[in-house]
Amino acid sequence: MTQISDAKNGILTEEMKIVAAKEGVSEDFILKSVAEGTIVIPKNINHPIEPSAIGAGLRTKVNATIGTSTDIVNFDEEELKAQIAIDAGADCLMELSIGGDLDEIRRRILKMSPLPVGSVPIYQAAIETIREEGSAIYMDEDTMFKTIEKQAKDGIDFMAIHSSINIETLTRLKTQGRVAGLVSRGGAFISSWIVENELENPLYKNFDYVLEIAKEYDVVLSLANGMRAGAIADSTDRAQVQELIVLGELIDRSRDFGVQCMIEGPGHIPINEIPANVMIQKKLCSQAPFYMLGPIVCDVAPGYDHIVSAIGAAESAKAGADFICYVTPAEHLALPSPEDVKEGVIATRIGAYAGDMAKGAHNGERDLEMAYARKNLDWEEQYRLALTPDVARAKRDARPPEDRDACTMCGNFCAVKLVNEWLDSGDHDILQK
Ligand code: SF4
Repeated sequence: MTQISDAKNGILTEEMKIVAAKEGVSEDFILKSVAEGTIVIPKNINHPIEPSAIGAGLRTKVNATIGTSTDIVNFDEEELKAQIAIDAGADCLMELSIGGDLDEIRRRILKMSPLPVGSVPIYQAAIETIREEGSAIYMDEDTMFKTIEKQAKDGIDFMAIHSSINIETLTRLKTQGRVAGLVSRGGAFISSWIVENELENPLYKNFDYVLEIAKEYDVVLSLANGMRAGAIADSTDRAQVQELIVLGELIDRSRDFGVQCMIEGPGHIPINEIPANVMIQKKLCSQAPFYMLGPIVCDVAPGYDHIVSAIGAAESAKAGADFICYVTPAEHLALPSPEDVKEGVIATRIGAYAGDMAKGAHNGERDLEMAYARKNLDWEEQYRLALTPDVARAKRDARPPEDRDACTMCGNFCAVKLVNEWLDSGDHDILQK
């Protein structure tokens, strides 16, 4: 049985109890939301991890993607990046290797991760076909489904599946044209396969087979957004919306089948289009959890795209997005280094935290405690409350004041100290009414 099937039958699972306690919400709320599909619990029956949940009414979650490239294959470094992402506070990992032994690296990450792990099975199906036959267009249907099944059996908790790219979606893309084409790797593989073979996408045509596999292992389907814009110039266009309509239909079929699912979203979009993107996704996709890539809100800051994306993360979380994929400083430039991974997770967590305050996913109690710690010049308490304690401590220690109460920003003219001397005292007649 899957979490959604149990929930529909009114069965409160151990996983539901755990996520309710972790999120500080009632078990009834989790039960109802999982049954309706507005919350998913990505936990494969073959992956022994503590469950967590993604969806409406919960804290916005952050994903970190790791994985080899065709140029850089270093499994130890990918494990290191995964550990850094975990330590930096990521909620989920996606293992997206495209170089080396893809089974080995996936199994290594699954083994070491206490977090849900996601994948994009079409990468492995396409890459192994390219290695053997020279092009992804020779992928056969059997390879696609067998790869999905293998990864599900290994314990993958959520899978990006490119079922929504079909002939109709590609016709819309071709008719309207685009500046930057497609930037989704999976979308590129599948669309090329459709066009070159002149056949419908097997993952769309035989979606029920995908559902059967997902149901057997309780894998959450992360229905991928292959048409996501890769440039601000292409944001929220007809091809993206066409795919969203297909995604909405697939969501309904998944839920009816007893499979948990969420929807992936853009991509590159300007800030002012974020609320409309979240709203239309939620409306067309029956309020399914929304997984945004940031988004990236401008195209002109390579090297700082983690900040560009954190701005998008704050706006999209505020607008109701439930899950944010991080972006690192290496985005658009290179395979991320371990340090890039840390920076990416932290930036995205900050964006998601800020958005959560605006959408009421937390009550700002931690910020209130920080305000008191700052007023009291209590540095240890400030480090405890910080999203990045080690960075905060290192910054202060790098330029310590002689007077340990204040910091070196204002030195002897510490505004906090000056005002503390009279603000809470009742000894000033001029301020008494
Ligand atoms: S010295 Fe300035 S920046 Fe530092 S704690 Fe005091 S008021 Fe704040």
